[in-house]
Amino acid sequence: MEKIKIGIIICDRYSSCAGGKCFRSLDKRKGAFSMYKNKDVKIAAFTTCGGCPGGNIEYAPEEMKKNGVTYIHFATGFIVGYPPCPYMEHFEKFITEKYNMKVIFGTHPIPEKYYKTHLKLNTWKNQDFKKIIKPTLSDKKTRLCYD
Ligand code: SF4
Repeated sequence: MEKIKIGIIICDRYSSCAGGKCFRSLDKRKGAFSMYKNKDVKIAAFTTCGGCPGGNIEYAPEEMKKNGVTYIHFATGFIVGYPPCPYMEHFEKFITEKYNMKVIFGTHPIPEKYYKTHLKLNTWKNQDFKKIIKPTLSDKKTRLCYD
């Protein structure tokens, strides 16, 4: 079975987060982690962006790569924060270009409470956002499990 090492970068607004939803959803292959069904995946790195405007994005991927990480996930907090991270698309381009690593938007399923509020705020109405939330959108029942 293919072995994959992943790194998770969280939004510094949630810097005290212990990663419970990310670890649980990887175990169950939910949200963005559904892409690893039938694959052997290990979280090999977990850090924050370093706070706006994301200074750690410049360096953390290099260290992750040295430890064999090939996929970097921006945690779901990047997408559901108020506001969502305004830099995430730039970060994705930077990491892809400089480190040749694959970047995935999101980790665990979007919690239902965030989903409902962002719908009211019309946050995700443009096409770019529709693409960004796709891996973590999930169905209502799943979203409620991550509230
Ligand atoms: S909004 Fe973006 S740059 Fe700012 S703390 Fe969150 S992830 Fe980092």
